[in-house]
Amino acid sequence: MKRITDDFIPLTPIIHDWITDTIQNKAHLKKIIEKEGSPINIHCLDPFVENLNKYQRVFEQYHIKHKIYFARKANKSLAFAVKANKEHQGVDTASYRELKQCLDAGIPSEALLLTAAIKNRKLMELAVDNRVTVVLDNIDELELLKDVAAEKQRTVPVMIRLGGFEHSGIKMHSRFGFSLDEAFGVILTVTENENRLQYKGLHFHLNGYSIEERAVAIEQSIGLVDRLSAHNITTYSLDIGGGFLINYLSDKKQWEVFHEELKKAILTLRKPITYRNDTLGVVKIDGNVYGEPKIYPYYNEVHKDKFLESILTSRSEEYKKPIYQLINDRQLTIHIEPGRSLMDQAGITVAKVAFRKKDSEGNLMIGLEMNHSQLKSSSADFLLDPMHLSFNKSGDNESGCCEGFLVGAYCLEQELILKRKIRFSQYPEIGDLIVFPNTAGYMMHFFESEAHLFELAKNLFYCTDRGEIKDE
Ligand SMILES: *Cc1c(COP(=O)(O)O)cnc(C)c1O
Repeated sequence: MKRITDDFIPLTPIIHDWITDTIQNKAHLKKIIEKEGSPINIHCLDPFVENLNKYQRVFEQYHIKHKIYFARKANKSLAFAVKANKEHQGVDTASYRELKQCLDAGIPSEALLLTAAIKNRKLMELAVDNRVTVVLDNIDELELLKDVAAEKQRTVPVMIRLGGFEHSGIKMHSRFGFSLDEAFGVILTVTENENRLQYKGLHFHLNGYSIEERAVAIEQSIGLVDRLSAHNITTYSLDIGGGFLINYLSDKKQWEVFHEELKKAILTLRKPITYRNDTLGVVKIDGNVYGEPKIYPYYNEVHKDKFLESILTSRSEEYKKPIYQLINDRQLTIHIEPGRSLMDQAGITVAKVAFRKKDSEGNLMIGLEMNHSQLKSSSADFLLDPMHLSFNKSGDNESGCCEGFLVGAYCLEQELILKRKIRFSQYPEIGDLIVFPNTAGYMMHFFESEAHLFELAKNLFYCTDRGEIKDE
């Protein structure tokens, strides 16, 4: 096996065809940046539809009644919500404006779901006025919704959020939802007493990316469905939330090498691969490293539709049947709420190079006209190699090959766009463009801020038929 002695550890991203097409016309991209300012986010609806179709095919294969609700919080652009509806799927909304925009865009209430973590009276009123299904998390919410529905003399469909499932005898912690026993009591009260809430189904959304935990949560939810059924209460749907893994990277080996080399770097057994040897969350004590980096698992073999299929084909030990069988035996409709995974390949962020300099340690710093909040998630770093669009006429001269760090516009020492050192095959020039692929899911929008009064990035859409880039 080849020893990696190089400084740079590549992490090659998977690139959709529309992205390849877009960056080929770099003069056009440059023109758009000059007009709209840097950075810009460019989206494309094709991958979104492809991703929806992938999930649909799995459900069809196992003859499961289903509806896919796009979790809007992963990306702010309304176009994806509208497209989800056009594709006969739905939208999961988590705030007043997310819901209001969808309603104003003509998305019908049957295609909408309200799961907001905080639901005030104004939001409940909007849901009740439009008969949008509300996912209830606690008793206070339930009482508020009852009150609003009574006041308006309207009925409203509800689902009950579950949490605190048990996996191998250990409770899976969650701040969300009712325990199975609590939920049983709550649903009994809702269905037996006079009120305007219509019980439709159960809901959960688990943190993390465990297939096993999701299978177990379905199994235990089914237990509750049966318990309710024994009291003549019908559960129509079970919503298993989002959190479907995606695969950002093309090479497993690179991903493994990255982890090995990061730990070596932390132990100073090699040159740093991150800025000032940032550990990305790995802990170093007395010459030993502990734990794993606090990063999204960017490489995954079982992802998206395969991830869903793995959940559905998991075997229930309790019922001695595969999960999909348990679902079909009870004629349940399965809802899923993917956010990130529907955004896979659906957007890129493009920024302009503003300066090159050396920091006090002699590291090459490449200043971009953008800030860290415009490419940020809860992951300690976004571990995909960006692409450099060079406008240097002299072509690809190897002598221009260099390594450095991308820094942004906030006046902070730690304002790095990427913590990882990046290799450029040509020395970046002022006005060159840096393209960050696959940023539509959370990266571009979730944490973007207007600190320093910087304007938010402009959101544009790529039209595959005409190859045009337009406003939303
Ligand atoms: C965030 C969230 C989702 C989407 O999660 P992804 O990891 O983006 O798929 C779905 N449902 C609920 C309730 C959420 O909070």
